Amino acid sequence: MVALLSTYSYSQSYTQLYQDRANLLLQSNINTLLTEFANLGVKTTGSTQNNNAFTWLQNKYVSYGYTTSTTATDLKIESQSFTYSGKTSKNIIVTKKGTKYPDTYVIICGHYDTIVGPGVNDNGSGVAIILEMARLLKNVPTEYSIKFINFSGEEQGLLGSQAYVTNIVNGTTPKMNIRLVFNLDEVGGVAGANNNKIYCEKDGTPTQPTSMASTYATYPSTNNAASNTFNTILMNCFTLYNNGAVSPVTSYIERSDYMPFDKNNDVSIGLYEYNQSSHPHKSTDTYANMDPIYVYNVGKVATAAVQHFAVATTSTLGTENIKPSEVRLSLFPNPVQDYLYLGIDEKEFDISIFDSTGKLVHRSKNNQMINVSSFSNGMYILHAQIKGEKVSEKFIVKK
Ligand SMILES: [Zn+2]
Repeated sequence: MVALLSTYSYSQSYTQLYQDRANLLLQSNINTLLTEFANLGVKTTGSTQNNNAFTWLQNKYVSYGYTTSTTATDLKIESQSFTYSGKTSKNIIVTKKGTKYPDTYVIICGHYDTIVGPGVNDNGSGVAIILEMARLLKNVPTEYSIKFINFSGEEQGLLGSQAYVTNIVNGTTPKMNIRLVFNLDEVGGVAGANNNKIYCEKDGTPTQPTSMASTYATYPSTNNAASNTFNTILMNCFTLYNNGAVSPVTSYIERSDYMPFDKNNDVSIGLYEYNQSSHPHKSTDTYANMDPIYVYNVGKVATAAVQHFAVATTSTLGTENIKPSEVRLSLFPNPVQDYLYLGIDEKEFDISIFDSTGKLVHRSKNNQMINVSSFSNGMYILHAQIKGEKVSEKFIVKK
């Protein structure tokens, strides 16, 4: 046990470069990803929408520079099929090779299938963060390999993650060497609430639901100490990298894709919202009912934490190329009927909206949700003045 623990001994300190990379995660990207995820509809395992979501994910990873080429040796996108109720569904697995321990993996996972509703919180929130993380860390050298995985079949009983553990993790002798499984499931928060806390989940016996507690108590406990070590690093990251916007609260892993790994004696931790939404698994699990700013705050810290877990380089002399954050603006939905949302990464900005004749029809400050229900149909142009820079976007009102 002592020898095992020493493998995980790791001194943690604030790393400015980890913060700089995490700061490149963009609120506007989170908003766009969540909106697109919503527009994909109800992504029930094996459905057309579920397959469309897989293609959407694959296209995202490709746009970040990962490849579906079967001959590639790094930055590879792969899929794993499994069947559910006579239909086929797929997990998507994206691998970035480590520099020092290429055969030892940090797995970052979050399911993309949904049930009954569009699942923007459960689990568009985790998916959006994982996509941003994959985009930001693609060119960052890490000592350990990273796998970004979006499982399907989670809602039917962890089918995708179980298939992955059974056929891929345990499909070789010896089995795949996993340093850590870090699962993000339902980190969307509650619209209108003060979402300033998050559950950092470690291995142990969960307290609820009590029906599952007895089941999980039978899972191996030999990996609990290592899980605790990584969870402590994760919790520290919320203090180190987030200026207290979201504070960590200890909890236990349960009812998500880390459980098949835990049962397989792999080390698991996870994130889960503290203010528990009542919308998951309902048609009301929509963008409007969750908190995209909370997703952004959690995503930034998670991106810093993954750099600790995979031991990212603390030098900029690698192959990475960090671009400074630029002023960005996105408008959605577009066309719009009633409320126009602004995806913007700044807190202070001035908005003016002009109609197609050039007449000023709206002016406000720091307003990310503009009521346009009184506007008549047509094209408009929105100007945002941010830190002395001016950005403009067109949008259409259509009722
Ligand atoms: Zn979920």
